[in-house]
Amino acid sequence: MSGFISLSVPNFGEKEAAYAAEAITSGWVSTSGAKVSEFEEALAAYVGMPRAVAANSGTSSLHLAAMAAGIRRGDEVIVPTLTFIAAVNPLTRYVGAEPIFIGCNDTLCIDPDAVEDFCANHCTLKEDGLYNNKTGARVRALGVVHVFGNMADMPRLLDIARRYKLILIEDATEALGTRYTAGPLAGKAAGTMGDIGCYSFNGNKIMTTGAGGFVVSNHADWAEHAKHLSTQAKADMLQFLHDEVGYNYRMTNVQACLGLAQLERLEGFVETKKARYDQYKAALDGVHGLRILPFKEESDGVRSNHWFYSLYLKDSGLDRDTVIAKLQEQGIQTRPVWALINEQADYPKNEAYALEKAQDYRKYIVNLPCSTNLTEQDCERVIAAVKNL
Ligand SMILES: *Cc1c(COP(=O)(O)O)cnc(C)c1O
Repeated sequence: MSGFISLSVPNFGEKEAAYAAEAITSGWVSTSGAKVSEFEEALAAYVGMPRAVAANSGTSSLHLAAMAAGIRRGDEVIVPTLTFIAAVNPLTRYVGAEPIFIGCNDTLCIDPDAVEDFCANHCTLKEDGLYNNKTGARVRALGVVHVFGNMADMPRLLDIARRYKLILIEDATEALGTRYTAGPLAGKAAGTMGDIGCYSFNGNKIMTTGAGGFVVSNHADWAEHAKHLSTQAKADMLQFLHDEVGYNYRMTNVQACLGLAQLERLEGFVETKKARYDQYKAALDGVHGLRILPFKEESDGVRSNHWFYSLYLKDSGLDRDTVIAKLQEQGIQTRPVWALINEQADYPKNEAYALEKAQDYRKYIVNLPCSTNLTEQDCERVIAAVKNL
């Protein structure tokens, strides 16, 4: 047995070292320096938006988005329950709002039918917006996560948001590189179709700056407001005047250099993700009742980034935690999908709907190693170990 195979780790090489060295030798290692703006421009161009606002994490990007979108104390926000907790906390409790949880469909993303059902049958649409019949609160926004890099059903979700006067916030933290290639939204990248969208450069994402993120918006003033809030809401460059409560959510110049290097390699990472995904799928899908869950593909009008791979155990008779432990013994790191957020300590009293599929996927998914530096041989070793379970 050769080395340990991690689930999802950074892929840094000479380019990252050289670009970061530039920042270090120039002395511009903190939150000032030209590279942050350069990185913002390169990111905006990559996702096809006029402006990108860099931040120090995906979580802070989502908090900036919630504030820029004007979500207020007492509001409610419709969110998925099958996702990472940082998709929910910043859009809700960070700004004093409460979540309404909705389950997923077979893309693992929020189920548009269940969102529509909640809006139509549990709420009242008034002149100024949507109101929850049970709590009387304003339902102000819909948070959509492109889970594991799979595109959520944006044509339908955008239509629902428009009809029910909801702000649509896209959490594209897992989906940089995913975009529509056909249909009404052809050419649009995940994160760029709603009112405001967020990305992450955490260490396990498809590209990383160690930690980082960015925000884009179809409202130019929201993007500028996000930038303002991320830089202590400074109203005057010299006199220390601040016109609202701001945050220090800035990215550093060193991180921006790492990001510029990673962005040059991103299309290559997307290719590797697809190649390893195809390898797992060809070897394991349908074997011993196992499945490798699908992504939206070119035939569905989507170029997916294939960020995280899901082995689905339901018809195999295998137990999730036993599988994870057995693979760990062989030096292979895997993990279960997230515990549902409506079951987490802080959210037991919040409304939650259409949970069946989310509960099923929670029980039967094991995420397989998917780093962009995973070799074909590493992948073969994982496949052999899974076949032997
Ligand atoms: C990674 C992630 C985040 C948070 O990003 P960080 O950069 O780790 O703060 C938020 N939402 C989802 C769905 C994520 O996967």
